[in-house]
Amino acid sequence: QEALVINNLSKSYGNFKAVNNISFTVNKGEIMGLLGPNGAGKSTAIRIIMGILSASSGEVKFLFNGDSSVLDKSKIGYLPEERGLYDDVKVLDNLLYLASLKGVPQNEAKEEAMNWLERLNLANYANSKLEKLSKGMQQKVQFIGAILHKPALVVLDEPFSGLDPVNQDVFKEIILELGRQGTTVLLSAHQMNVVEELCDRIFMINKGKQVLFGSLKEIKQGF
Ligand code: ADP
Ligand code: ADP
Repeated sequence: QEALVINNLSKSYGNFKAVNNISFTVNKGEIMGLLGPNGAGKSTAIRIIMGILSASSGEVKFLFNGDSSVLDKSKIGYLPEERGLYDDVKVLDNLLYLASLKGVPQNEAKEEAMNWLERLNLANYANSKLEKLSKGMQQKVQFIGAILHKPALVVLDEPFSGLDPVNQDVFKEIILELGRQGTTVLLSAHQMNVVEELCDRIFMINKGKQVLFGSLKEIKQGF
């Protein structure tokens, strides 16, 4: 069952095509990897999907339970490549603010946030200002912010950047759990090794264009 459909998507900056006619679908509960080197067009594509950037042409379609609908941000979780949190605000308050934007009741949000902070070894930092945390810790807070409201679709732009291997494994475990629970996941990465055990299918992009699209097995066989 399709959850996200990308059709002939392009984005130009002047004459430069940052995204050049890409198409792919992501099924419900599928973990899709958007893989490519720096500058390939991953963040541009993701920002268009998130409605932050407008496309030059093409379409993005969300299907929640088979129903085509316009982008409902409360059903989507997003980990942007750039910092999306407030440095001088406490960790827990950052998360409660994000949750409030998604319409999660305060009590529920607080319980969920504390559970996730505990799981990611950050419970002791709940009342620390974000700026006191290391880059990896901040990335964990952003990750919690993307999944706290139990979205149907989670879009993660380079979620593993700045993370040590142990925490990368913790993220992978949580992402796999999300997939098993029926959450649709689209994540970008520039390294094959972080997506190969994780993603059901991989869309490889370079210089804005599709290079390969398929399961890892298909990609390794060269189709
Ligand atoms: P990736 O996420 O794969 O690293 P990006 O989508 O960030 O790639 O960038 C794709 C290309 O588009 C890069 O060459 C980048 O320099 C260019 N680019 C991104 N945003 C802009 C912009 N606002 N204006 C001009 N060029 C841009
Ligand atoms: P804004 O007017 O909001 O700054 P821009 O279109 O200038 O919007 O940029 C959108 C995003 O793309 C910003 O996050 C910006 O930092 C980034 N960006 C702008 N130019 C480039 C570029 N040449 N390469 C990579 N990223 C860029």
